[in-house]
Amino acid sequence: MKHKKINYNSIKFKTFLYFLLFAAVLMAALWILQVFLLNNFYGTMKTQQTKEVARDIESAYRFRDTDKFLKHVSKISKSYDMYIYVVSYDGKTTYYQPSANDVVQAPGFETDTDVSGMDGAEQYASQIQTLNEHMMRGDGSAYVKITNPSTSQEMLAYGSILQHKDKDPMIVYIFSPLWPVSSTIKILTHQLIYITIISFILACLISLYLSTRISRPIRKINKDAKKLAAGEYGIVFSGGHYSELVDLTDTLTTASIELEKSDMLQKDLVANVSHDMKTPLTMIKSYAEMIRDLSGDNPEKREEHLQVIIDEADRLNVLVNDMLTMSKLQSGKISLEKRVFNLTETVEGILHTYKILEEENGYHFVFQCDCDYTVNADEEKIKQVITNLINNAVKFCGEDKTIIVSLKKRGRSVAFRVEDHGPGIAPEELEHIWERYYRSSTNMKREQEGTGLGLSICKEILTLHKAKFGTDSTLGEGSQFWFELECQKVEKRKVK
Ligand code: ADP
Repeated sequence: MKHKKINYNSIKFKTFLYFLLFAAVLMAALWILQVFLLNNFYGTMKTQQTKEVARDIESAYRFRDTDKFLKHVSKISKSYDMYIYVVSYDGKTTYYQPSANDVVQAPGFETDTDVSGMDGAEQYASQIQTLNEHMMRGDGSAYVKITNPSTSQEMLAYGSILQHKDKDPMIVYIFSPLWPVSSTIKILTHQLIYITIISFILACLISLYLSTRISRPIRKINKDAKKLAAGEYGIVFSGGHYSELVDLTDTLTTASIELEKSDMLQKDLVANVSHDMKTPLTMIKSYAEMIRDLSGDNPEKREEHLQVIIDEADRLNVLVNDMLTMSKLQSGKISLEKRVFNLTETVEGILHTYKILEEENGYHFVFQCDCDYTVNADEEKIKQVITNLINNAVKFCGEDKTIIVSLKKRGRSVAFRVEDHGPGIAPEELEHIWERYYRSSTNMKREQEGTGLGLSICKEILTLHKAKFGTDSTLGEGSQFWFELECQKVEKRKVK
């Protein structure tokens, strides 16, 4: 038979061990307190109690009549398990003494056979003698501790003279054993044996239950994580009732979804890049062949074909540049070079470069802004964001060929916004357009084709700036792309 090896480092074993240790320590403490220290504890408590009872009797003597006082003494004697003995001052009359069939028995030293059959007064004659001597010498009350030499059990003998101007003087003796009744110890020991056994069984059961409840989901999570490591993405991790484990499974599920996404993106990236490169390369190849075979001697045709080759090479260049920027941004290799600059002037400068489109292609650019907004940001990167957004607006503008650019104060920030009256973007596509290589299904035309990286570059740059950004768009009506930067200073524009 194959033995399963015990893993001494496992949660199961450790929980089991700690519970067992906990039960053992608890039990040891109980045994020490209940059985071994009980005698001392009991003795101290009884001494205290005897003194209190004595005080109680003294005040009862002072404030009650003799009958009521004696009744009170009898009650106390029974309820406190003390042998109380009240005599007249000369010792001749016994006022109170527990009767033979009373619950209270004169506490004798159990091994001392001589005491059997004697009543309290006879049994304690010598102690009474000693107490009397002490009382006469002192302030009227005294106590002595008597130790049985053979068992070393102790008893407290207390005596006090009770005096009152209207009453006969009396003497009260209290004899109180300072050891617990041995049957009590026996019962306690018996109980403790049961409690010990039950505690150990409970400790075993609870530790087994708890450790299984904790370790089982962890083993399941580990099994799933191994699958993930082997490349099985999109696993939904589950298991566990404990919030820490639920948190862990949530995190792992998110990681697994992200891994799946990034794996898909990587596959998409290869597909997209090869597709995007293939088209211009095919064009370049075929036009170069055309020049070689057909148009080489025809300067007009040759020029035309060479221009196509140059355009396609430019397209490839833009694509490669965008990919490089994107990869640098994503690998965290690019850090921001922030400085304070006038955003209004920057936007104006960028818009100026589009003048040629206005003059030659009938585009119409509107800039709405009446303040100088100063921001602290990486100017070059913000310029790239603005250019990308305006380029998109140009690519996707409507028939009115109008692009409205604005800067407006929004709280403590300045909001940049580009608006066009083009085809717009479907609501379900809005959240995807900032992703790498995403192109909306409605806006696919080769002449409008970009790299599919423009908005994701903007997103990376704006995220680095911790800036808010977004898109508002209505299908058929147009789109607005915006971002916000914290504003350092706002000044009314000077008329130039
Ligand atoms: P591309 O280089 O393809 O423009 P972008 O990342 O800049 O890549 O844009 C992603 C997609 O978002 C575009 O392909 C287009 O479908 C959509 N898009 C971006 N800007 C606009 C706009 N102003 N109007 C309509 N659609 C837009």
